[in-house]
This record gives sequence, structure tokens and C-alpha cells, in this order.
Amino acid sequence: MNHDFIYEALPTRVIFGQGKLQSLPQEVEKLGARKALVLSTPQQEAWARNVAELLGSTAAGVYSNATMHTPVEVSEEAVAYAKRVGADCVVALGGGSTTGLGKAIALRTGLPQIAVPTTYAGSEMTPILGETEKGVKTTQRQPVILPKTVIYDVDLSITLPPALSATSGLNAMAHAVEALYAQNRNPVTSLMAEEGIAAFARSLPTIVQSPKDIEARSDALYGAWLCGICLASAGMALHHKLCHVLGGAFDLPHAETHAVMLPHTAAYNSVAAADAMQRVARALNSTDAATGLWELSGKLKAPQSLKQLGMPESGIDRATDLAMKNPYWNPRPLQAEAIRALIGRAWAGEAPQP
Ligand code: NAD
Repeated sequence: MNHDFIYEALPTRVIFGQGKLQSLPQEVEKLGARKALVLSTPQQEAWARNVAELLGSTAAGVYSNATMHTPVEVSEEAVAYAKRVGADCVVALGGGSTTGLGKAIALRTGLPQIAVPTTYAGSEMTPILGETEKGVKTTQRQPVILPKTVIYDVDLSITLPPALSATSGLNAMAHAVEALYAQNRNPVTSLMAEEGIAAFARSLPTIVQSPKDIEARSDALYGAWLCGICLASAGMALHHKLCHVLGGAFDLPHAETHAVMLPHTAAYNSVAAADAMQRVARALNSTDAATGLWELSGKLKAPQSLKQLGMPESGIDRATDLAMKNPYWNPRPLQAEAIRALIGRAWAGEAPQP
């Protein structure tokens, strides 16, 4: 077999297991910090207050206004608050929205971040930040954006509602599926991708039935970590670009959009990325990647149509035009008619087709 690749590991310290939040005070100290600003969404403010209590005199305060898509106004307000309370590090407790706020603060101040993820989005492992200003989302990649430390505490994922667990898990699996066919894929990332998909495929069906099952929760969070590394290490293609276009143009919810689109984008690339899709199928214990993903999302009762997410039918043409506007690499080149058919099927909730 002929190998040819570049492999670069990103330097995040990862602490994984049940009850690991308790190690937060030591981890703050390890960074040489003394005043940690705790971040959360309004929905998770009580959690953030408990974390501030755990930190005691090392807590600088709580900022609980993290918002989806990281609006610049919120980040600027949080930076002003961080300065006012003299914070020398941030602790982001929550999903991708809160992790995004921590990254936005780090970008503006250079403060080190500790991420404590409570969904499966994977943002905590990436040096990538998407920010929104006046309705326009831009994405950038910089070393300062990458959290220094990530604490995966399985106990914190137990309250993630079954529906959000399913869509968040499918969102994470999308990182791994695209990493397997990325132009800059490498053997290590591909191993992680396959294992990440397998971890979710075996745990998500249990989680939607029994959300408190610790073993399944642990397996899913483990999958989230692996898939987060995939997102950080490999270039993303059709799937992520289409979700970005759809989310931006029709204000669709992030994880749900990924969940709807994944079987369809996998089907689109099934022939052009046959080797990758074979690995996806193997991880899903299925004979075909797209069918396996479609069946999994059905079993999880995840949304299967863009229509049910609120996209108008007239949006199919607009989304196709937007998707075709900025060409990018994909295993199968973008063909307008085929992309339109793909989006049409995803809109109507029809089964995926190559
Ligand atoms: P989210 O962070 O918006 O969380 C959704 C809701 O669930 C929030 O109200 C949150 O408070 C709540 N929640 C989170 N964890 C919970 C738990 N354990 N129990 C109960 N409620 C909980 O959703 P998300 O899908 O994690 O993140 C989406 C955002 O992350 C998007 O803006 C997306 O662009 C971004 N993202 C960025 C990257 C990156 O690398 N930059 C990667 C993935 C996602």
C-alpha cells in the first residue's frame, strides 16, 4: 500500500471520564490562572453558577449570555465583562454555542480556555471559530482559538434531551464521514473517524431509549471527542458547506440541519468516495453508508426533512444557486442538477439516492 500524507496533532490536553468536572480547579491552576470567567447559555446558567462555586476564590464571575452562531455583539460584551472582572482564563461550559463564545474571547484577548462540553458538537477540539455580524457568518482558523484543556465529564451529558442527543450525535458523525474522504485525510484521522462513527452508531439508539445509561453516554461522548478531532484535522466538503448555506439562508437549527443532510451528502459521494464509504458502512454495521445513516436517523427519530425544520419549498432553488456559487473541492464535483435533486429529496424527507 502506498502512503502519502501530512499528519499534525493539535496540542489540547484532554481529561475524560465520569465526575471529571471536579478536576477543574487543578486544571485552572495548571494553566497558571487565578481568575476564571465561567461561560454558559442562559439555559445553563445554574450549572455555570455551580462551577463558579466549585472554583471558589478562583472564579472571576459568570457570563451566561452565550448565543447560537456567536454574534459579535455578545462576544464584545463578554470581553468587556472579562476585563472588568480581571479574568485571566475562561471556562466554557456547554455546547458549541458556549464553546464558540470562549473562542471569540480568546481571539480578542489571548486568554487561555478550558472547554467543558455538554453536547456532541465537537467544537472544543478545533481551532475554528464561526462568528456572525449583521447576519453574515464568517469562519476563521487560528491557533489561539483552540482550547488549551478540554474536560469531558460524562455526567454533564446525561441531561442532554434524547432529541438533541440524536441530532448532536449525527452532527458529530458528519465530521468523521467527511474526514474519511477529505483531500488531506491521513491514516490516524481516518482511524479516529471510523471509531467515532462506530461509537455513536452503538450508543445513540440506547441513549434515545434510556438517556441516563452511563455506558452509552460515555461511548457517545468518546465518539464526540474523536469526531471533533476529525473536524479539526481534515478539510470538510459538500456536507458542511451545504449545511452552512442552508443554516445561513433559512436560519435553520444547526444540529438538526446536519442530521437531515448527512444521509443525502453521503449518497452523493458514495461512488466517488467508495473506499471512505465502505469504512463508514463498516462502522455503522451496514452494507451501505447512506442507507445505514438514513436507517440510523430513522431509528433515532431525528428529523428527516428540511421542510419540518421550516425551510420553504421555494428555498430549494435558492440553496442550489448558493451552493454552486462558491465552488470548492468535493470527491464528486458539484453538478447543479444533482445538487438540486439532493436538496429536493432532503427537503421532502425522501430516502437518499446516489
Ligand atoms: P448549543 O450549544 O447551541 O446548545 C443547544 C442548547 O442545548 C442550548 O440551550 C444549551 O444550553 C443546551 N444544552 C447543552 N448541553 C446540554 C445538556 N447537557 N443538557 C441540557 N441542555 C443542554 O448547540 P450545539 O449543537 O452544541 O452547538 C451549535 C453551535 O456550535 C453552532 O453555532 C455551530 O456553528 C457551532 N459549532 C462550531 C464548531 C467549530 O469547530 N467552530 C463545531 C461544531 C459546532
